[in-house]
Order: sequence, then structure tokens, then C-alpha cells
Amino acid sequence: MRKITDPKELQELCLEWRRQGMSIGLVPTMGFFHAGHLSLMDHVHPLCDRMVVTLFVNPTQFGPSEDLNSYPHDLENDARLAEKHGADILFAPEADAMYNPDHATWVQVPELARGLCGRTRPDHFQGVCTVVTKLFMLTQPTLAAFGQKDWQQLAIIRRMVQDLNIPVEIHGRPIVREADGLAMSSRNAYLTEEERACAPGIHAALKAAEKLVLEGECNAETVKNFIRTRITESVPMGRADYIELVTPDGIKPVESISGPVLAAVAVYMGKARLIDNQYIEV
Ligand code: AMP
Repeated sequence: MRKITDPKELQELCLEWRRQGMSIGLVPTMGFFHAGHLSLMDHVHPLCDRMVVTLFVNPTQFGPSEDLNSYPHDLENDARLAEKHGADILFAPEADAMYNPDHATWVQVPELARGLCGRTRPDHFQGVCTVVTKLFMLTQPTLAAFGQKDWQQLAIIRRMVQDLNIPVEIHGRPIVREADGLAMSSRNAYLTEEERACAPGIHAALKAAEKLVLEGECNAETVKNFIRTRITESVPMGRADYIELVTPDGIKPVESISGPVLAAVAVYMGKARLIDNQYIEV
């Protein structure tokens, strides 16, 4: 595995691979790998001739009071894991190599970015779309994998790829969870022992809501209140940022459930903000 920090070097190598007729799989990450990241690599590796894993804590997707400077990192261990899981390149650039001081171009999908995480993180998805577009241009991937843990991000990237005719196949992959149901996240490292102990209550509330809907409840407000009550009871040190039911592709609020729906939550807990979701196939 080659470690690259220079965008130009990455682009030249990937362009050369594509000229030789090879397929390239891309796994974009912010590092501090857990089994969720590794599942994306394990999915992509057998499908492509070359796999590029990127590790970049992208400053433009963080708000001013967010955790950009304290985001967990362990480059050495990440490099070892990426290599073990088949990466040909680990691209880990510095922020100033990715953004010139006069950077002025932004990619946005406002319609899908307004709700859920976009409400409290207004510039987040513009940062994500811009950096993912740059990574696409640098690596020329035939396939790129993203986790359903960040469902809204995945929906936005799918729309962006469709709208801009970007020649890449997007693969959305299932949420990898701890044995007790907590969705794996690099940010789980922020949790205290006490917070960690009750955090699985978030997933449990979403699974209970799924059952409620599958048993026939179709009033979204009732389902949201049900999730809120469950989270308040089982995750007492949490504070809900949002609890929403939206259309899975358009991320539009649902009032009456008559088809597939996504139940999505964000919960502040101590230093962490945890997100999770449940796709409900009605
Ligand atoms: P991050 O490093 O948090 O930006 O995540 C990099 C990629 O891994 C994104 O596509 C995430 O959706 C995905 N990912 C993060 N956590 C999980 C998880 N628990 N299960 C599956 N994919 C995940």
C-alpha cells in the first residue's frame, strides 16, 4: 500500500490506472477506523482492480463550534488496517493541500440538505459534497462506497452524482453496530462509560418504532413521540437534536406513513452527537 498526501500525485496515479483500463474503488473516510469503515473496504476490495481509501478530516464540513480540532485520530493504526483490508492507496492529505487559500467553489444539494442534520449543521453537506466531488475528480473511481449510518449524506451524494452526471456507481452499505446495538462511530470515543452504557437505547428506540409502524401505526407524529419517550427514558443523559420521519430518497418530512420511511435521530450526549436511523419497509 502506498501512502499519498499530495493530491496531484494521487490524481496522476489514478488517471494512469484508468488509462490502463483498471477499475478503481473509493472509500472516503475521516479516519479512526472501526468495523463500519472496514466493512466498506471489504465490500469494495473484491469489486475493483484498485482500491483507494481516503482519510481526510475535512474542515469545510465542520461548524465553528464543532469538534474539528479534537476529532479522534490514529494514522498509524488506520494505515495498518487499510493495508490489511486491501487498500492500494491511503490518501491522507493536509487541509491546505486540499483547499487553496482562494478556494471559492462549492457543490450543494440544498433541497436534501435542509432537514435532519442540515438544520443544526447548515454548511455541513456543502462541505461534504465539495470534498467528495474533489475526491471523485482526484481518483476517477468507477465505484464509491458510503455507509447508511450517514443516510442523509448518502442520499445527497446519490442525487449529486445523478444531477451532475458523475460517472461513478454509488454503493450504500448497511450500518455496522456494536454487539449491544450502538451504531459504530469514531465519535463514540467521546462517550464516558456511563454515556456509553445507555447509548444503545437510541437503536432500541428506533427498532421499537419500526415494530410499531409495522403493526399498523401510520401517524408520524405518534411514532416520533414514541421514539422521544423511549429515548428520554432509556438515554437520560441524552438530549435529542432531532427525531424525524422522512422519505428515504428525498429526505422530506412524512406526516402519514404509507410507504417506506426513514426514522432518523440525532442525540447530543456529553461531548458527542450521535446519529442513527432505521429504514422501515412498509
Ligand atoms: P466517517 O469516517 O465517519 O466520515 O465515515 C466514513 C464512511 O464510513 C461514511 O461513508 C460513513 O457512512 C461510513 N460509516 C461510518 N460509520 C459506519 C457504520 N457504523 N456502519 C457502516 N458505515 C459507517
